[in-house]
Amino acid sequence: MLVIQNLYKQFGSLVAVNDFNLTVKLGETVVLMGPSGCGKSTTIRTINRLVEPSRGRVMLNGANILAMEPDELRDVRKRIGFVFQHFNLIGRLTTLENVMLGLVMGGTDRETAECKATEALTKVGLENHLAHRPDQLSGGQQQRVGIARALAYEPELMLWDEPTASLDPILVREVLVVMEELARYRASTMIVVTHELTFALRVADRIVLMDKGSIVEEGQPSEVFVKPVSDIGRQYQELIE
Ligand code: ATP
Ligand code: MG
Repeated sequence: MLVIQNLYKQFGSLVAVNDFNLTVKLGETVVLMGPSGCGKSTTIRTINRLVEPSRGRVMLNGANILAMEPDELRDVRKRIGFVFQHFNLIGRLTTLENVMLGLVMGGTDRETAECKATEALTKVGLENHLAHRPDQLSGGQQQRVGIARALAYEPELMLWDEPTASLDPILVREVLVVMEELARYRASTMIVVTHELTFALRVADRIVLMDKGSIVEEGQPSEVFVKPVSDIGRQYQELIE
């Protein structure tokens, strides 16, 4: 359902993503890992064109996102959920309003938006926090609002860029539990950038390891972390042992 072909991104003379090729099946969870600066964020940001790649193709159900006109791109983005490291919630809005906002701005009527937002917030376990404002929530709860905001669109594709990186270790767990449930439920295809090895081992259908803009290794967690063929793979293996 998602086919990325020869994706390439250069910032000035720096090649951030170097001919990246990846096919992700419907409902599959791919975990993208690699050292800092290897191009993980740039890669997943090019999928919905938060970053414009220099060249390549990103085919979502047969349509090339990179060739889309603005109107078409706006529509396709509604089918792609993106969860960042920083939650970017709006401080003066409640949990419910934060999740409703994008839906209403996208043309959904308020009643339907409220219904979808409540449902998404229930999925992440925040049904009792609808009227709270972000400063009344823990970091983990705020990130779960961020996840609900993406889920409310019932996205076909979920992109996660280090969603637990700015949380303390105790809060990390509650967010990973929500992500794991979503992966198991297979409601959407997921690409997850994370440094959480245990999560990757438990949840990934496939691990993709990057180094210097390129894929150096990919396979099931049992292959990549047990019989790595790349230096990066061996470094992860040592961390696990
Ligand atoms: P991290 O694990 O630290 O988040 P990453 O794998 O996500 O790293 P990217 O953010 O994709 O790495 O960055 C890849 C390379 O591209 C880095 O060398 C980075 O400095 C560079 N880069 C990223 N964004 C820009 C930009 N807007 N302008 C110039 N260089 C950039
Ligand atoms: Mg990054």
